[in-house]
Amino acid sequence: MKLELKNSLSVKLLRVVLLSALIVGVVLSCAQIVFDAYKTRQAVANDAQRILDMFRDPSTQAVYSLDREMGMQVIEGLFQDDAVRMASIGHPHEAMLAQKSRELQHSHSRWLTDLILGKERTFTTQLVGRGPYSEYYGDLSITLDTATYGQSFIVSSVIIFISGVLRALAMSLVLYLVYHWLLTKPLSRIIEHLTEINPDRPSAHKIPQLKGHERNELGVWINTANQLLESIERNTHLRHEAENSLLRMAQYDFLTGLPNRQQLQQQLDKILVDAGKLQRRVAVLCVGLDDFKGVNEQFSYQTGDQLLLALADRLRAHSGRLGALARLGGDQFALVQADIEQPYEAAELAQSILDDLEAAFALDHQEIRLRATIGITLFPEDGDSTEKLLQKAEQTMTLAKTRSRNRYQFYIASVDTEMRRRRELEKDLRDALIRDQFYLVYQPQISYRDHRVVGVEALIRWQHPEHGLVPPDLFIPLAEQNGTIIAIGEWVLDQACKQLREWHDQGFVDLRMAVNLSTVQLHHAELPRVVNNLLQIYRLPPRSLELEVTETGLMEDISTAAQHLLSLRRSGALIAIDDFGTGYSSLSYLKSLPLDKIKIDKSFVQDLLDDDDDATIVRAIIQLGKSLGMQVIAEGVETAEQEAYIISEGCHEGQGYHYSKPLPARELSVYLKQAQRSNAAIL
Ligand code: C2E
Ligand code: MG
Ligand code: MG
Repeated sequence: MKLELKNSLSVKLLRVVLLSALIVGVVLSCAQIVFDAYKTRQAVANDAQRILDMFRDPSTQAVYSLDREMGMQVIEGLFQDDAVRMASIGHPHEAMLAQKSRELQHSHSRWLTDLILGKERTFTTQLVGRGPYSEYYGDLSITLDTATYGQSFIVSSVIIFISGVLRALAMSLVLYLVYHWLLTKPLSRIIEHLTEINPDRPSAHKIPQLKGHERNELGVWINTANQLLESIERNTHLRHEAENSLLRMAQYDFLTGLPNRQQLQQQLDKILVDAGKLQRRVAVLCVGLDDFKGVNEQFSYQTGDQLLLALADRLRAHSGRLGALARLGGDQFALVQADIEQPYEAAELAQSILDDLEAAFALDHQEIRLRATIGITLFPEDGDSTEKLLQKAEQTMTLAKTRSRNRYQFYIASVDTEMRRRRELEKDLRDALIRDQFYLVYQPQISYRDHRVVGVEALIRWQHPEHGLVPPDLFIPLAEQNGTIIAIGEWVLDQACKQLREWHDQGFVDLRMAVNLSTVQLHHAELPRVVNNLLQIYRLPPRSLELEVTETGLMEDISTAAQHLLSLRRSGALIAIDDFGTGYSSLSYLKSLPLDKIKIDKSFVQDLLDDDDDATIVRAIIQLGKSLGMQVIAEGVETAEQEAYIISEGCHEGQGYHYSKPLPARELSVYLKQAQRSNAAIL
């Protein structure tokens, strides 16, 4: 901050000092002049007295002897003095013995000096004879013209005035310099330092002491200011700490250190905004302990607190999967699972929390078991706001407790049953293989060159003891999630190869077997070896096994997929891309993958007669496959019309209910024989 010179303290002081010095100078000069005037008047009187004294004796002489001539001589003598304007000798009651007068002197300053000194002044002395009678003879009178006195009075007055003012000016200048040196300059330095102070860390930059001012007011000022800055910084620091701990107290639970409800709401707000943008699901899980009151009563409140702490730690162990974790109060906790795809994932988390609680808490040499009930809401299905989701999750949890405890419950009943079923299935899936609940069905694939069955696709079926036939679309994703797909997949491959061997042995030597591969299987390093082994064990010719991989599975990681496909191909299998057209794959990728066959997804085939777009897509896929030198097969062919269309477009093969539903092996053997017969009949 730069000060303007005209605003500087020194200049202001200069102005004030100058003005007051001038006033004082003028007043003092005036007083001096007044005194001078008084002195001049005195001088006039003194001069008159001196003249009168000097001429008293000759005048007495003249008046005593009534000698006019002598009187005139005395008068002439008096007139030698320029100031004398009029003089007379004589008795006041008689005619004057001698007298003379002259004009008043001319002077420019008369108008002023006459006012002060008068135009003229008359002085008289009595002419008295010598003792012992001391007789009175008359008076000697002189009138003095004040002009000469006035002139010198004016001159000296002017000098007094000017010198007075000059003195005042000189004094004020000196004072200004002194002020500047002693006050303004050090103050400016202090201001400079003050501007360098950082308001956030006021004591970081201390104002340095000014040389020579250590002990005066400025020094004291600087010291005090520095102390003040220090204490400001100390106070700010303390205030920040207090604010932070207040904030912590306002946002975090005192006991567990987890965020509290308020903080959770803020976090969830943010998570919901993001999920809304990305169109993802969010699950809110409200965990309520079953009979925590009983624990408190049976043990103590301290034990209760310790339990809550230990529980918070167990919940924290899941934080890798969580968007937020909070204690809602009492024995209730909330978990937010952000960015999930399926409600199933929330069910999994809930179950793993419940499983976690199976292990007892060891506190004070005693083992305490806790159970919890979890209410689950989903965004966007169950609510679009934090309040709704939390409220409904808590409601669901409370409601679930009234029915049975130690379980989770989804807000929407249908989702809940669905989730429950899935979880059961997932559990059952682990044992299904050992319990021999799987079997394969086979669906023929027809070549349009000669309308013969050239292959079959193996499709897995799960006969569940309670739920009956479970569709693969439902349990394959579950198997992929819990890893059982690897074992199941190998079982399928083994069964399919074994069956193909049988059919080859029965005389269908050219028959090909198509087996579906899950993406999880595809990325399993053992797969090429497994395939190779099976081909050898069952003595199957190369290219009699076709592996179907889905488009979406491939697109996740093109380069690794390409590697895996290559090593599979080396083992002698053919590779087909299943459900083609549903995965938005880029055509350029298609070229870089080692593929033998494209399977047009059944959704396009089914609608191709009613939907021009689908017809166009089917035609385009056939063209594409051909131009890349690949076989093209249409799946889901249900009618003769569909068949006619794809044949006219040049599709190589077809598969679908039009030819046969997927059949158990024995039935398919019958189908194959029939097809062989009817073919032979045509030929
Ligand atoms: P996908 O590989 O595309 O199999 C074709 C599905 O279409 C089969 O359903 C089949 O029954 C059905 N389908 C065949 N022709 C027609 C038709 O004309 N109309 C209609 N509407 N549907 C037809 P499925 O057997 O339920 O299999 C469903 C999916 O499950 C399969 O689709 C495949 O992705 C998967 N899958 C089946 N078995 C296995 C397996 O052993 N391993 C793996 N990883 N996945 C399998
Ligand atoms: Mg398939
Ligand atoms: Mg398919």
